[in-house]
Formats: sequence, structure tokens, C-alpha cells
Amino acid sequence: MTHRVTFDDLEIGEIAMELDDHDPQEVIAWALETFGDRVAVVTALQAEGMAILDMAARLRPDVRVITVDTGRLPQATYAFMDQVREHYPQINFEIIFPDRHEVEALVRQHGVNLFYRSVPLRLQCCQVRKVRPLVRALEGLDAWITGLRREQWASRANIRKVELDHDHDGIVKVNPLADWTKEEVWGYLEDNDVPTHPLYAQGYTSIGCDPCTRPIQPGEDDRAGRWWWEQGAPKECGIHCPIETGGFEHEAHAIL
Ligand code: SF4
Repeated sequence: MTHRVTFDDLEIGEIAMELDDHDPQEVIAWALETFGDRVAVVTALQAEGMAILDMAARLRPDVRVITVDTGRLPQATYAFMDQVREHYPQINFEIIFPDRHEVEALVRQHGVNLFYRSVPLRLQCCQVRKVRPLVRALEGLDAWITGLRREQWASRANIRKVELDHDHDGIVKVNPLADWTKEEVWGYLEDNDVPTHPLYAQGYTSIGCDPCTRPIQPGEDDRAGRWWWEQGAPKECGIHCPIETGGFEHEAHAIL
């Protein structure tokens, strides 16, 4: 399938109502059927992402899976990418990269570890290394499947299982796990022998770039290990909640 499949707000609202009490697998099946090869699972290979990847691969073994290599990921993530590739040999695994010229300009001006120096510089790094590559990838899609869950953070509370993504050219954003709990995600992973990122076993609860992620302490929020040195800044990279339009206002969680 190569032609674009689009919906307007009314149409997608009706579909969202219809799918809201459906299982994640049924929502994913709808997306794969509707958008053909113009839909992809977009994931940083964390627990939720692996659950939807597994569900999608069972429905369509050669499903498109997109992940971004920011250039600063932990070695464990690179090893896990290979493990995922071996576990799902038929998936169409697309590892995308930042624009070399943008990274070079950023590093030349601000240094290689600019993210520790200020929140704006950290956000700039996230824009160049993570958000813009993903935005470029989304430009070739009619829909993307994410692992967002409503209970992750206040800003996620109202997500629908299917919605229009007005921040990305009105393509469809599919959130099959919207009403799942963290326990349901891990239950699915265990029941289905889905590979999981090795850093979870070392106390990490949210896994991003190596210099910007650390394990959490007992009692801390799952996202506390991301950009832990920042005070009063959003736990946000900008892909699910553009910084310019509210990243600071509602402390959105990015799953990436
Ligand atoms: Fe840069 Fe850190 Fe954002 Fe990764 S998480 S893109 S290293 S600021």
C-alpha cells in the first residue's frame, strides 16, 4: 500500500469510541489493516514498546519498527537492539539517526556534554538527537503506534487509543496500551517470553541516553532517573508533547 490514508477529527473520534474498550491486539490489528506499510511501531525498546512490538509482530511478522539511535545510548541498549533483531528476525527494523551536520554544529558550539549545563541546552540536544530524527521518520507515515499509557502521568490521562496527532501533520497516533497498568504490561511480557531491556534488572525504570539516565532510588517516581540533575524541568524530550506548546506546563512524560 503506498497511497496515504487520512482521517478527520470526526471520523477518528468515532473510531476511537468504537475501539476504546478493545484489547491492544485488536487496536493494533485495526492499525495494521488500515494503514498497511504506512504504519510503524515507534519505540525506544522499553517495556511498553516491547509489548506492542511483540503484539504487532505476532499479527504481522514483517511489521515496521522504528527506533532512534541518538548516538549517546547505553551499550546495553545497542546489545538489546541486536537481541530484538534476533528474536524477531522478520520485523522491518529501522534504526534512524540524527542529522550529522546538526549534531556537529551543536557540539562545536556547546560541547559534547552540553545537556548538563542548562535545561535549554538539554532540550536542544534532545531536539537534534531524538525529536527531529523521529519527526523526519513520521513524515513518511500515516500512523504510528506508541506504548503510551494513561496512568504514566497527568498529561497522558486523556489519551485515546486512536487519535489524530496534530503536532505531526495530523497523522494517526495509535496508543493500544492506553488503559493498561504497568503490571499488565509486565504480565504480558512474562507470559509471552518477550525480551526485555537488560537495564531494568539493574534498577532502571525508564531508559534513555546513557549520560541522562540512572537507576532510581526506592520510593522515587519511575521517571526520576531521567535528567535527574534538573530541577523544575519537564521530564520531556519533546516528541509526545512539543516543548514550545506546553512541555514546561504539564510536566509531560516522554516514553522515548
Ligand atoms: Fe541528548 Fe540527553 Fe536528550 Fe539524549 S537524553 S538526546 S543525550 S539531552
